[in-house]
Order: sequence, then structure tokens, then C-alpha cells
Amino acid sequence: MSEAPLTDQYGRRVSYMRVSVTDRCNLRCRYCVSQDMEFIPHPTILRYEEILDLMGIGASLGVDKIRFTGGEPFVRKGFMDFLESAAERFPGVELCVTTNATLIEPFIPRLAASGVRRVNISLDTLDPDKFERITGRPLFREVRANIDRAVEAGLNVKVNVVAMGGVNQDELPGFVDLARTLPIDLRFIEFMPIGDGTRWSRDSVWLAKDILAGVCELAEVEPVKGEKRNRGPARMYDLRDGKGRIGIISPYSNHFCASCNRLRLTSDGNLRTCLFSDRVYRLRPVLRHPALGLPFVDRIIRAATQEKPMGHKLLESMPSGAGCVTRACRPSAVEQRLIIIACFIAETLKILLSCLDQA
Ligand code: SAM
Repeated sequence: MSEAPLTDQYGRRVSYMRVSVTDRCNLRCRYCVSQDMEFIPHPTILRYEEILDLMGIGASLGVDKIRFTGGEPFVRKGFMDFLESAAERFPGVELCVTTNATLIEPFIPRLAASGVRRVNISLDTLDPDKFERITGRPLFREVRANIDRAVEAGLNVKVNVVAMGGVNQDELPGFVDLARTLPIDLRFIEFMPIGDGTRWSRDSVWLAKDILAGVCELAEVEPVKGEKRNRGPARMYDLRDGKGRIGIISPYSNHFCASCNRLRLTSDGNLRTCLFSDRVYRLRPVLRHPALGLPFVDRIIRAATQEKPMGHKLLESMPSGAGCVTRACRPSAVEQRLIIIACFIAETLKILLSCLDQA
């Protein structure tokens, strides 16, 4: 397998992978899942061993940061054991987790002891009743307590708030206070037209510029510069009178496609090169094919990265919630061609070898 770093046709270095370990979740966030959502059957979900193999390919291609997400990663049996093996096997890769934090309490000491020290926790409201209305579960107190526990254990905690007009705009003072009192990065993410919940509309987007204006009315902030600035897409602000920082991520009003360095792996082994594209590359059949396997997956990842789109047109093409990007996918032509060619070569080689054996 090749050692040359992964680069796309526009010269962007791809060094970050988001890996979904399950599509299942114990919450039912209204904007994320639809009521009649069907889950992926178990045999189709990548086994942990397969994910480790794919991580190995990523690492050999220069991926140096991998974030595990879901669904909710901690609902998958054995997730903490898997994280520990991943941390042991890839000490040079920064491993992170995104979680709703409802189930992490028993795992916090192990997380802190493992190489996985960065935990992103999603929390869209500080009001227990509203939490239940948004997520369908009465688990606000567990999440809030687990944020404190994670911070106390020394984990590097980011709290992600999906900024939704008419839903949590009124809670800005509470969120700013949370960042004042805890040493966390509290980051607002503009509501994006993605997900199977399709609650999105232009009016439901609380724009980054309005979030920043609101924050500035409540606190003295200063943009974080130089080394302390995160590598990611968030614009970060130090709070003059606080322990934490505020961040704003604006995928809707100011996309960061030009610096996008990401690939996404779905729990059933589809590779996506852009969150806002339905184009996928199906790695699982190749990975599980006895004559193809990892060398061919490596080639497909390279070919897919070449095709990574330069941008998306969220603002232009999504006048209403009707066009939300969902889990539906469209297999890519290049992947289909590669698989067919690879299968043909593998089968021909097999026949040739058996002829040589008989000769
Ligand atoms: N269960 C985990 C969690 O809650 O963090 C990981 C999966 S969850 C889908 C990942 C993140 O995507 C969460 O922070 C969630 O709020 C965010 N998200 C989901 N739909 C979104 C949307 N339409 N716009 C912005 N963020 C969204």
C-alpha cells in the first residue's frame, strides 16, 4: 500500500477522518432523526476489526486525526474496549469522540487514562424540559453532570450547541455563563440542512454573525490567535472573565470548503468525501471480498479523495427544508468502475494461477 499522503485534485491535504461506529442512538433529536427511521441491519455494520483495518489505511495515507461518532457511539457494545485498542494501535493518531454524554459516566476514568482525551459533547439546551422536547428523553441532568465529571477527570471537553432560531436563541446568557464557569470550549454550530428529521428551514438558522453579536453584548471576548487557535473550522474567542472559550462554526453562512481536510466513514462502510453530497464509495464489499481486501480499499480511498468536491451550494440550492441532505446515498461511478475492474483482474489472476499449478 502506498505511503504518499492523501491529497485531492485541488491540492487539499486530507488528514482527518470521521468514523461513525453505529447509526443507532438512544436519543431521538427532532432535527436529526425521523420517527420512522429504519436502522441498518447488524451484519452490514462494520466490525471493530474492520474499522481498525480501515484506520490503518488512513494512517498510512497520512490521516493524523480520527473522530468517532454515530448515532451515539457509546450505545454500541464494546465501544470503550475498541477505543482503547485503537489508541494502543495508533499512538500517532489523535483520537476524539463525539457523544451525547448520556452514557459516558462509567467510562470517564478509562477515557481519561486512554489516549482519547478529547471529547465533544452535544447539548442544545440548558433547560431540562426543553431537552426532553428536543431529544425525546428526560436525560438533561445526566448530561450536565457528566460534563462536570469529564472536566474534573481532566478531559479536554468541547460542548457543541446546534444554534437554532426560535429554539435556543433565548438561552445565550446561560451558555455564555457555562463557558465562564467551566474550562471548556463552548461552540455554537449553525443549523445545517442535514439529517432525517428535516426540521430545517432558512428561518431556523441562527446565523453566526448574530450569535457573535449576542455574545459580545454579554461578555468581553477576544479572538484566539496563533498557536492556541484550533485546527478546526471554529472561530474561537477567549472570554476575558471566564475559564472557558466560545466558538462559532458557520457551515451555512460561511463555508470552509477550501480548507476541508475530511473524509467520512459511515457505520456500514460507505466513504463520503463531503457532508453535503450524497455520493458514496462502498468500501465494505471490497474490504470483505476475499480477492480484493485492503489493497483495493486503499486505491478506492485515493480515487475518492481525488473526486472530493471543492464546495457545496447550501445557500443557493436549499430554499426550504425540503432539500435536506439525508442518509440516502448515490454510489459513485468511479468506485463502481474500480470494483468491476479489480474483480475482473483478481478473477483472471486466480484462473491463471490455477492453470500454472496444473501445468
Ligand atoms: N450522538 C452523538 C452526539 O450527540 O454528539 C454523535 C452524533 S450527532 C449526529 C453529531 C452532532 O451533529 C451533534 O452535535 C448534533 O447536534 C449535530 N447535528 C445533527 N444534525 C445537525 C444539523 N442539522 N445541524 C447542525 N448540527 C447537527
